[in-house]
This record gives sequence, C-alpha cells and structure tokens, in this order.
Amino acid sequence: MIDLRSDTVTKPSQLMRDVMAKADVGDDVYGEDPTVNELEAYAAKLVGKEAALFVTSGTQGNQIAVLSHTHLGQEVIMDEDAHVFVYEGGAISAFAGVQSRTLPHVNGEIPLKTLEESIQPDDVHFPETGLIWLENTHNRSGGTVLTIDYLKHVAEIATHHNVPVHMDGARLFNAAVAIREDVTTITQHVDSVQFCLSKGLGAPVGSILAGSKQFIANARKKRKMLGGGLRQAGVLAAPGLLALKSNIKRLEDDHEHARMLAAAINRYTDMVVTHDIHTNIIIADTAHSAKTAKEWVSLLAEKGISVIQYKPEALRFTTHLNISTKNINDVINLLKTCS
Ligand SMILES: *Cc1c(COP(=O)(O)O)cnc(C)c1O
Repeated sequence: MIDLRSDTVTKPSQLMRDVMAKADVGDDVYGEDPTVNELEAYAAKLVGKEAALFVTSGTQGNQIAVLSHTHLGQEVIMDEDAHVFVYEGGAISAFAGVQSRTLPHVNGEIPLKTLEESIQPDDVHFPETGLIWLENTHNRSGGTVLTIDYLKHVAEIATHHNVPVHMDGARLFNAAVAIREDVTTITQHVDSVQFCLSKGLGAPVGSILAGSKQFIANARKKRKMLGGGLRQAGVLAAPGLLALKSNIKRLEDDHEHARMLAAAINRYTDMVVTHDIHTNIIIADTAHSAKTAKEWVSLLAEKGISVIQYKPEALRFTTHLNISTKNINDVINLLKTCS
C-alpha cells in the first residue's frame, strides 16, 4: 500500500530504532533523564525559546498550553477550523474550563480587524480573553502557511491588549521549510509553540512545547497532572532528537511530491485541488467528479493507494518521509487510468 492518509503513519527507521535501543535514560519526573534533557534543550534553542518540554502528543502539548496560559471562565480566540477546536474532543472546555471563541478565517488567518474586535473589553458581563491561538501550517486549509506579516500584526495586537499567543505548530517545520526561513522567524512572534516530532519528522512518539522558563515550569506541572510525567522516557526522546537533527531539511521533498501530485490530480482526474500547495497536504474536492469521495477512496484502495475521505465531498492526500518519488510517479500513473 502507498499510504497517503497522513504523515502520522511514518515508521521509525532502523537508525531510529538503534538510537532508541542505546539511549541513556533516567527518571524524567526527577529531571534525571539525560536524553530527554538533551532533547528539551536542543528543541528550545532550535525554536528560539528559553525552555521546552517533551510531551506525549500534539494534543497533550496543546492542552498543557491552554492550562498554563489561561484561567477558568476565560475565552480562547481561534479560527473555526482549528485542530484544537475540531479534533481534540472539546478538551479545552473539559480540562481548562475555558470557552472557544471561533472566528472565520482564510487559510488559518483570521482577518486582523475581526481578531482585534473579538478581544473582550473589561466588563463584568464578558469572559476575559485569555489566549490567542494560531495554527501553522493550517491543517484543514490543506497545510497552508501563515505569512510572517500576519504573525507580526497578530503579535502587535496581542501585545497591545496584553494577551498571550500560542501557536499549534504540529507542522511548524513544514512551514519554516516552505517559506525558506529559519524557524525562529516564525516563533519569535508567539509566546509558546507546540510541534510534533511524530508527523513528517518521523519519530514514533511525542511533541515539544516551548516557551519562557516560567511558562515551561508551569507546563511541567500541568503535564504531571494530565498523567504525562514519564519515567525512562529517553528511549522516546532519542528518536525525536534524531528527527530534529536529520529530517527537517528533507521536508522540502515532501512538499515537491505534494506539488507533483496536486498537478496530476487537477490534470488527469475530475477532482479539483482546493488550495495552493504550500507544504505536504492536498485536499481534492469531489463535488464535481463523476465519482463520490467514498467511491474514490475504494477505487484508489483497490489500486493500492490509501487516502482518507476528509469531508463529505473531499479526499486528503498527505506526503511524508516514507513516500518516495517513485511512489508519487506510480500514483500519478494510476490516476491517469482512473477517470
Ligand atoms: C496532528 C495535529 C495535532 C495533534 O497531534 P497528535 O500528536 O496527533 O495529538 C494538533 N494540531 C494539529 C494542527 C495537528 O495536525
């Protein structure tokens, strides 16, 4: 099977398994796991923050961010397609006791005027605005990248109103590679950032949450409260460290593969790619196709290609490090026979 469902399906390489087996470990809840400590220090420096925390998943990192930034009854401003709103089981309401203020957006960018007007004034009736949320790359918009100019303006608004900004950067390095900038060009505009080691970077488990020293000290406590205090976690941190050292630059290959595949979908099928390809996600609209999205999924599966039905009338293809240029060319050749 050529598995294009998600970049979460990547499997650890033999080298990754070797570094896992050999990782130096200790009790991380006591702060004694040298490999976790090394990963956290390396990751913090990489994204230009004072400190970082190794967490079990992107979802856990996001939840800890909300718990660390906000108080009960506050509001978090986010776009209406944000992963934290759509795919995290309503956890920010359940765990942090905050509500989501969801706003319309284009490719993850909420119009600045709407954003600023949504920050609550000091009034006994209103919830306080506790946090502004950004997602980069923007998953449900097809992996699109927020512009640096937009980030600058959001940071200005946030500073003016004294509200912190968190970035759900599950695919942060895809964003940095796509705009050919150092990742700190992005992260300097946010107070905290979460990124996944387990998606396109290819580690089997884990995410990083980074921010100020004080923020991460607080986050460490929240992680323990959520049951995320791991013990000899160095075996999980070691592949994360390897991923950060070896697998960032090559994300460009995934982006090139996505561009090739998107062009072929538009050219050889009656599906339509809904957005510009910035990174590794393709959303193909089937509304005007002779086949339904469901029929496309089964037809492709018969031909050895695994994709997901993403919306009632759309498919999602995702490229990643276990997909070669040959795989992409094979998929393109198969698509030519599908219409
Ligand atoms: C995948 C993803 C997450 C969650 O990460 P998990 O490790 O699957 O919990 C959060 N935000 C975005 C934008 C994602 O794509």
